[in-house]
Amino acid sequence: MKAMAVGVMLGVGDDPAESLRKVKEVGVDNAQMGCPPDAYLSGEKFEQLKNAIADAGITVTAVFCGFAGESYADISTVQKTVGLVPAKTRSERLNKSKMIADFANGLGVKEVCAHIGFVPEDPSEPLYQEVVEATREICDRCAANGQVFGLETGQESAAALKRFIEDVARPNLKVNFDPANMILYGSGEPIAALGVLQGYVVSCHCKDGTWPTAPGQLGTETPLGQGDVGIDQFVAKLKEIGYQGYLTIEREITGDQQKQDIIAAREFLEELRG
Ligand code: MG
Repeated sequence: MKAMAVGVMLGVGDDPAESLRKVKEVGVDNAQMGCPPDAYLSGEKFEQLKNAIADAGITVTAVFCGFAGESYADISTVQKTVGLVPAKTRSERLNKSKMIADFANGLGVKEVCAHIGFVPEDPSEPLYQEVVEATREICDRCAANGQVFGLETGQESAAALKRFIEDVARPNLKVNFDPANMILYGSGEPIAALGVLQGYVVSCHCKDGTWPTAPGQLGTETPLGQGDVGIDQFVAKLKEIGYQGYLTIEREITGDQQKQDIIAAREFLEELRG
């Protein structure tokens, strides 16, 4: 691959062919894949999907885990519903994560990513150790597949995430750096955060947004270049740390506006990257 090749985050709906067409429409040839419907994880539909990706000439650069029952409505809902933090759903979500890792491996994809949820900032909380153990289980399955496991940033400060990664102590535990999430969750200034986490960053989301305006609320996602990230500084910092991965555009809206915003983001990133 070309270093800092521009790609897109691909949500896979009930018609993967349609999703693949959308990737090509915005003028890129690589994508991270959102969690596909269960039917596509194995068997005949898996083979269809694999063939469709090959036919489209698209490189899938990472696959994201996603879980039934998650909601990103506001910060307390995220705390209660997202990732490996909620105890009630943890073991089923661990199993699903391992299935996703195997699914990705079947596609030849060597990175698996997830939002694991709000890791407690206080490592003496029992929940902290439980999430460490759960993360190790996923890392170990990924390692058996020759994969890295990338944690999406945003829900913790960079320092807390770095300490968590060190405590998990698995060499294949990495970071998918999303600068907008640092802002949307009010977790810290993203360019400085990228500096703190630089040794772990294997992939990133090029997304923008504005800071929350009320406690407990999330900030607002914007088209790339119109939020508070400072995308020019973000790309400059990626270059400074010697980042060699993809620039994956993420725009979490739907429809024609999403397509237009992604095309504009691609052109902007290509210009910044040089
Ligand atoms: Mg993201």
